[in-house]
Amino acid sequence: MSNSIEEITSVIGAERIGKHQATIDWILTDSRSMCFPEETLFFALKTKRNDGHKYIPELYARGVRNFVVTDVPEQLSHYADANFLQVGNTLKALQRLAAKHREQFQVPVVGITGSNGKTVVKEWIYQLLSPEKVITRSPRSYNSQIGVPLSVWMMNEHTELGIFEAGISEMGEMEALQPIIQPTIGVLTNIGWAHQENFSSLQDKCMEKLQLFKDCDVIIYNGDNELISSCVSKSLFTSREIAWSMKDNERPLFIEKIEKDDTGTTIKYRYLGFLKEYRIPFIDDASIENSLNALAVALYLMVSPEDIAERMAHLEPVAMRLEVKEGKNGCVLINDSYNSDFASLDIALDFMARRTEDKGRRRTLILSDILESGQPSKLLYRQVADLVHSRKVDRIIGVGEEISAAASRFEIDKRFFRTTTELIESGILSSLRNEVVLIKGARVFHFDDITDLLELKVHETILEINLEALVDNLNYYRNKLKPDTKMVCMVKASAYGAGSFEIAKTLEDHRVDYLAVAVADEGADLRKAGINSSIIIMNPELTAFKTMFDYKLEPEVYSFHLLEELIKAAGREGVSNFPIHIKIDTGMHRLGFAPEEIPALVDRLHRQSAVIPRSVFSHLVGSDAERFDSFTRRQIETFENASAELQAGFSHKILRHICNTAGIERYPGAQFDMVRLGIGLYGIDPFTNKILHNVGTLKTTILQIHDVPADETVGYSRKGILTRNSRIAAIPIGYADGLNRHLGNGNAYCLVNGQKAPYVGNICMDVCMIDVTDIDCKEGDKAIIFGDELPVTILADKLNTIPYEILTSVSNRVKRIYYQN
Ligand SMILES: *Cc1c(COP(=O)(O)O)cnc(C)c1O
Repeated sequence: MSNSIEEITSVIGAERIGKHQATIDWILTDSRSMCFPEETLFFALKTKRNDGHKYIPELYARGVRNFVVTDVPEQLSHYADANFLQVGNTLKALQRLAAKHREQFQVPVVGITGSNGKTVVKEWIYQLLSPEKVITRSPRSYNSQIGVPLSVWMMNEHTELGIFEAGISEMGEMEALQPIIQPTIGVLTNIGWAHQENFSSLQDKCMEKLQLFKDCDVIIYNGDNELISSCVSKSLFTSREIAWSMKDNERPLFIEKIEKDDTGTTIKYRYLGFLKEYRIPFIDDASIENSLNALAVALYLMVSPEDIAERMAHLEPVAMRLEVKEGKNGCVLINDSYNSDFASLDIALDFMARRTEDKGRRRTLILSDILESGQPSKLLYRQVADLVHSRKVDRIIGVGEEISAAASRFEIDKRFFRTTTELIESGILSSLRNEVVLIKGARVFHFDDITDLLELKVHETILEINLEALVDNLNYYRNKLKPDTKMVCMVKASAYGAGSFEIAKTLEDHRVDYLAVAVADEGADLRKAGINSSIIIMNPELTAFKTMFDYKLEPEVYSFHLLEELIKAAGREGVSNFPIHIKIDTGMHRLGFAPEEIPALVDRLHRQSAVIPRSVFSHLVGSDAERFDSFTRRQIETFENASAELQAGFSHKILRHICNTAGIERYPGAQFDMVRLGIGLYGIDPFTNKILHNVGTLKTTILQIHDVPADETVGYSRKGILTRNSRIAAIPIGYADGLNRHLGNGNAYCLVNGQKAPYVGNICMDVCMIDVTDIDCKEGDKAIIFGDELPVTILADKLNTIPYEILTSVSNRVKRIYYQN
């Protein structure tokens, strides 16, 4: 739903500087999430740790033109075509805008608050109701003073039900959230110790939370919880109540019986006089309680008990983030270094205990202080110790002042350190052998450094990458673009073998608009390494949508099947408006929608809100060859029409792009909004087969030199037949490193001290032999496999292939080294 900048200015009571026309679809508070710059309004929020005003120059450079600020930038002339809406408090302005947005909708809205289980209850209500309703809900656990307005902003004309979480950590905060959510149905999950530090009592906290429900039609809660029950009666609300109870059969929802067995729990309940039952595939008490809250909402919204039972049976656990990696010295690493609350520790320990493939291994837990638990430290670490003992952890390595102070509570093998650096310097990490290691710490402890040290990495022969040459190539192609044309840089296949992270970082520093990789894991690795640029996934796997959502990786969508799976996955994960890139097949006949499918595609996209097209593109099959020019022109024309048809179905701008490297060079008229630069970035001009600025040099070192008489042979199968007395050098690179075996037996050469040294005999797996009879050289000298003086295109020609294949064949075990001249 679009809003004009005038309307927004008046709603938030801002002073407007700049008179530029703008329509706003997107609200942004975190510059890393930027996606649709043209239609974005950025709120420069000031928090304890950060100030959003810092990011204005960067966002402006990336195309954002509308900003809500408290302080107008000093050099306004740098922001010629921008609007600045100046207010006294940007957070309050954001909340006000969201509250005003909420007022437009007359649909039921569920507001969920409580100390635990909010996200699970929200997701389960969603799972019970989504088959019949279009639901807008908080993504993940967006429940803060900032997260709630961003969530509510996602409601649109299709929304039939809203489900939003509200979390608070201080008195007075619920008063701000209530007008934004304006729930008609209130769910209070439970009241516990989380965030207790800012409340004088549990009762205070409970009363504060109930503020959310002051205008609700109905309130749902656990009637057996005395604290909650007494607070609800004290609040004097006139709303209807659905208190569920296992003890009191006068309550509107009476739970008659709960039966657990090995695979699930069957729950019998009485509602409006009828006795019904359902079953869930969980047996823990928290899940049972969560399901009861979700049940009450579904009953209130008149889902039939039969449908409820059917859907409860298939409830899915709410996703979480745990990574398993191969470690050094036979260790298995479970990495959960993103958060550190007690509940997630329990889940992670449970996961470690269950991994049957690790049976018999010692279990080590590396754990930091648990921050912001709201519990007294003594109580907290007693609980942690109990958990650690009951989950059969063999050793704990604790990091932080608080956990160190509680050392005596742990009755297992243990070590404690005040900081992560102290732990690393102790050398204890290198003593871990054949263990399962769970690494779990609050972000501030930087446990990523620990994971880094423990992870398995192998190095050999090196591939040197000249980053300056890369930038020169980038600029070479940039100079061919019109000023407004955007650029995607292809960093798929480890940046054509050059290594994705450094290449991506360099490109990000030079502000390219998009990066593209082949598969989700490549993108996730970039995100983990700190790359914030927008990333497109060209070959999204059906099994990796969650990775894409977690890391904000934007998939290419090329078929209805893929689209449906994506929409389904987005539904499960609580994701909406996720950007996607539509591929059209204009003649490659590899992947893509046929042009005739566009109307059906537009229609399908209109009937969902999980994804939103950010760009539309196609791929040229022969842009590097004159003989295909008429075919290429036909592809461009087909694309022009099909992409225009897609765009016509939407009010927001959809970027169009078709040119690859050769297309940029040869079809300047087909730049549309964006181009995709690949091989040219790595220094190869695909049209002339010339090297622009050489980026990669594959080199190794002579291990040993033998004088071999004329009647001997070299290597396997006696293939290296010598016709003269020779000097034969062995170098540590073989076909397992990506040195193609067909280069052997004199078909090609490497360079030693600038001279050609032919490969002798068959290339082995890890080593090969070269003839250096005529070359002045010694052991330890360098051998260049390809690089400046031996272009990769020569090897490609010898192998009757393309340079792309040679570059991407250099295997992972070859260490990449980066330099700038
Ligand atoms: C790899 C790729 C490119 C880049 O092609 P180059 O010839 O390397 O410039 C562009 N578009 C798509 C869809 C690709 O897969």
